Amino acid sequence: MERYSFQAESRELLDLMVHAIYSQKEVFLRELLSNASDALDKLRLLSLTNAVNLPEGHVFEIRIDRDSEKRVLVIEDSGVGMNHDELVNNLGTIARSGTKEFLQQIKEKNTPASELIGQFGVGFYSMFMVAERVEVFTRKAGETQGYHWVSDGKGEFTIEPVEKDTIGTRIVIHLKPVDEENGIEDFTREDVIRRIVKRYSDFISYPIKMKVIRE
Ligand code: ADP
Ligand code: MG
Repeated sequence: MERYSFQAESRELLDLMVHAIYSQKEVFLRELLSNASDALDKLRLLSLTNAVNLPEGHVFEIRIDRDSEKRVLVIEDSGVGMNHDELVNNLGTIARSGTKEFLQQIKEKNTPASELIGQFGVGFYSMFMVAERVEVFTRKAGETQGYHWVSDGKGEFTIEPVEKDTIGTRIVIHLKPVDEENGIEDFTREDVIRRIVKRYSDFISYPIKMKVIRE
């Protein structure tokens, strides 16, 4: 297993997210859907230019799964995925271009954090507003090895190889306890997920699927 430290500004950003007092924490889901959609777009483009051969019967989609008892929310896409170096760079060790400006504007307090998060492309880290721990399982299109990324947002993350049957990315969010006053709703509830997905999925052209329980 490899252990890495987050890049300095990312660390500052994560610290803000972990201790976030912002309302509208639900925007983390908008950011994850947007990343999933981007990953699906990238895969579509690569397949159209024949840069990758899609697995037979590949379905372009986003799946949401949940476990209320374990307080786990899962967002999975069948998009392009990440290889080892992309995982290290994109989710930790290379500064995002918007981070500095985001931190600056947050300190000036003129614009709500929920708006700034989308604007400056600091989306991935926003789930640490609601997460105690995050796991990412990913496998890049055209490659066979998968990787498992884990972090509690407190300065470090680990990466290890993992077996993954399908290409794409699965994000497993171990949620903080429900705390309605601080904007942490029960994000494992079907009606809550439905409401948030409906609010933020206008721009997404892929199916978003969730298993529902019929009484
Ligand atoms: P942005 O989407 O503006 O680039 P984010 O913080 O939301 O910033 O995501 C950081 C990067 O992590 C993305 O640019 C992408 O390279 C990678 N990434 C995040 N989520 C996924 C995903 N579901 N599939 C593939 N790559 C992803
Ligand atoms: Mg994003």
